[in-house]
Amino acid sequence: MKVLNEMKLSFMSRSVNEGFARGAVSAFLMQLDPTVAQLADVKTAVSEAVTNCIVHAYPNSAGIIYITAKIAEGREFIVSVRDKGCGIPDIKQAMEPLFTTGGEERAGLGFAVMQSFTDKVRVTSKPGKGTTVTMIKRLREDD
Ligand code: ATP
Ligand code: MG
Repeated sequence: MKVLNEMKLSFMSRSVNEGFARGAVSAFLMQLDPTVAQLADVKTAVSEAVTNCIVHAYPNSAGIIYITAKIAEGREFIVSVRDKGCGIPDIKQAMEPLFTTGGEERAGLGFAVMQSFTDKVRVTSKPGKGTTVTMIKRLREDD
């Protein structure tokens, strides 16, 4: 994978920054001339990952969320959303559709949405240390 361009961003885990993160990542993606659908997919996936940091990783206080976005050869867009929050004890279980630790308020569909709107989702996490969600979207010309 040859990286052609890259940007990094960090901001506090406050809900108002969810729209900021989505907008900033979209603005960076624009240089690939995405279709409306591709842009919407990336925005939605980034929103879900950032919301998870705000709601789950740092439940009682604001922490820092780190985003890296890369453009690689072959119109590949790679976005990582990282936190230094509580971590996920069982990643496989967390990624199952409808699994949530958020009670009635949450649907447990965030990871399912990220998976259906991008080509690949990889999650690494250490309890007490934090979580990284990396998503790859291939911007095919015919999507
Ligand atoms: P929804 O996204 O539908 O509102 P949800 O956030 O519970 O509900 P997912 O986004 O699929 O559903 O996440 C599943 C579970 O994984 C969460 O309930 C939470 O326990 C855990 N989780 C997800 N992201 C993080 C994170 N960054 N840090 C800690 N735990 C996380
Ligand atoms: Mg979620």
